[in-house]
Amino acid sequence: MATEPAVRSPGRKFLPLPAWTGPSTRLVHGGRRPERNAGSVVPPIYQTTTFHYPPALSESAELGGTYLYTRMENPSQEAAAEPIRLLEGAESARVLASGMGAISCTLLSVLRSGDEVAALSTLYGGTIDLFTEVFPRLGLRVRWIDDAAAADPERAVGGSARAVFLETPTNPLMQVHDLARWAKAADAIGALLIVDNTFATPVNQTPLALGADLVVHSATKYLSGHADVIAGAVAGPARLVDRVASLATNLGAPLDPFAAFLLARGLKTLAIRVARQNENALRVAEAFREHPAVRRVLYPGWASPEEEAIARRQMTGRGGMLGLSLSGGIDAAHAFLRRLRFIHPASSLGGVESLASLPAETSHRHLSPEERRARGIDDGLVRLSLGIEDADDLVRDIREALPPG
Ligand SMILES: *Cc1c(COP(=O)(O)O)cnc(C)c1O
Repeated sequence: MATEPAVRSPGRKFLPLPAWTGPSTRLVHGGRRPERNAGSVVPPIYQTTTFHYPPALSESAELGGTYLYTRMENPSQEAAAEPIRLLEGAESARVLASGMGAISCTLLSVLRSGDEVAALSTLYGGTIDLFTEVFPRLGLRVRWIDDAAAADPERAVGGSARAVFLETPTNPLMQVHDLARWAKAADAIGALLIVDNTFATPVNQTPLALGADLVVHSATKYLSGHADVIAGAVAGPARLVDRVASLATNLGAPLDPFAAFLLARGLKTLAIRVARQNENALRVAEAFREHPAVRRVLYPGWASPEEEAIARRQMTGRGGMLGLSLSGGIDAAHAFLRRLRFIHPASSLGGVESLASLPAETSHRHLSPEERRARGIDDGLVRLSLGIEDADDLVRDIREALPPG
């Protein structure tokens, strides 16, 4: 039976940027190639399934530089992956069909049947489903690390995990985990640390620099930033990222060229969007910290002095996400969503428009109320993804939607 040809890297063909360039410059200019492409400032969308190759392909010296088929490799995918690679400080990066495509292909590329993955229990719901519904059927074991155990990473990872998987800040509680410490704990047992960096984005946090082995993203969120494309990404050393790409080819999880174009387009403004979202979230968090109808504001670093110290060390900004735990429970949360004027209820995040959602009815609806409570997610918790609107307007919309107290 014929197997797929191995995924070959045509080699990076991007215009080199000076080492002194900052993140915004890298995002704007990072995916540019030397080819003239009729002089177009924006790279064309390579909306093609296949590519012409030399008649004697196997004898061609150009083989390493030839694209074959878009499920394997396409220049539009590379143009989207390059700015992510630059910002994460990675040797290599790939874009994939979705965040879940990136997470599943990344984990399956490093695990084999019988292996154990140690996972922090506060994860994106889709990742929890993958770990609980799919992994057991493949003979993969998951060692769940709850919040109490997570305080002691060295002990929590155990001795037999091949990979450690976590998110920080977490959804929806905005807990902050010490990446350098988890990297050390994973390294001590020869496990890979894989970090879902979706919430922070590489503008605010670069896990590879702190010792993580691989970073995964739902590029659907901040990286693309306009709530109009489903995409994923993985970044890290080429030897690991190539394995992820190979598996993504076999499992059929490439990013469509048009989606890759939208992602590359969104990435150009990532740094200014995230800077504004950082500011807006902080403004809202501070405005409602003392509000009588708000039991608690969940914001990265605010849970404890320890988490504040970790956030200061590993994040340059705290991100655009926060939680408002309303005193009146689910009824108060419903009334709040109904009264909001332009912040709309929706379950995704990271776009230019602010969104509100109730984890109890969206990301964590599959859990029983008891399980939710055990994870600290009360039914009055509203998760906000702050966009790039005027901060005063956001504060006003939220204030007028809350009961007076
Ligand atoms: C949305 C999300 C995912 C899944 O990404 P998709 O692009 O929807 O597949 C994974 N992790 C986090 C933290 C997310 O928010």
